[in-house]
Amino acid sequence: MDPILPSALASTLRRIENAARACDRPMPRLLAVSKLQPAAAVAALAAQGQLAFGENYVQEAAAKTAETASLGLEWHLIGHLQSNKADVAARLFDWIQTVDRTKLVTALAKHRDAARPPLNVLIQVNVDDEASKAGCHPDEVDALADAIAAESSLVLRGLMAIPTPHADVELRRPAFRRMKALFDALAARHPRADTLSMGMSDDFELAIAEGATMVRIGTALFGARPSRP
Ligand SMILES: *Cc1c(COP(=O)(O)O)cnc(C)c1O
Repeated sequence: MDPILPSALASTLRRIENAARACDRPMPRLLAVSKLQPAAAVAALAAQGQLAFGENYVQEAAAKTAETASLGLEWHLIGHLQSNKADVAARLFDWIQTVDRTKLVTALAKHRDAARPPLNVLIQVNVDDEASKAGCHPDEVDALADAIAAESSLVLRGLMAIPTPHADVELRRPAFRRMKALFDALAARHPRADTLSMGMSDDFELAIAEGATMVRIGTALFGARPSRP
């Protein structure tokens, strides 16, 4: 494996900062997406000061969080969560960004240890209404938000989306804009909702221009991913 060049993190942070400054928005948070990357790559980035990481698969994350347990990292689940893995996920992660149905809300709430800080939750929205995609329909956000808010072991922090990856990045703008409108409406009703998670390596500057407060970036930080074993 190539060592991670310090410049990958620094240049990504600089691009985020420039995009935010260009539209007079606060600096968004960077979530480093480490799926399919080894724990050593996570540790290397942590040594440079990046402490928040995103994983897609519960089992892979279990191994990686154990290997990096001494580093004080914050872990986010950004992949689809099956209800039968909600117990493991509620223990393992600090944030779950992919809550899209009430069954999952109930399961996560039940399995989050009440002695720990509440689990941070984002509602994943199927913003382009794609038949094959995870995420709730935009019309379902309010009901799901109320279900999350009713659970003392969960805290509703906002919304997450993965718009249709049109090759022409500009065509993703309307979806980002719809997410921002949904987010503003949600935040008006739920004061702890402060996070709009959208934007990846190839479109994060556009997402920031449209109001993202957290961007999820893998390739631009780590290089190309190894394929899934
Ligand atoms: C893999 C992934 C990312 C990061 O994608 P890159 O293009 O490598 O930056 C972000 N969000 C989700 C949900 C992902 O699955």
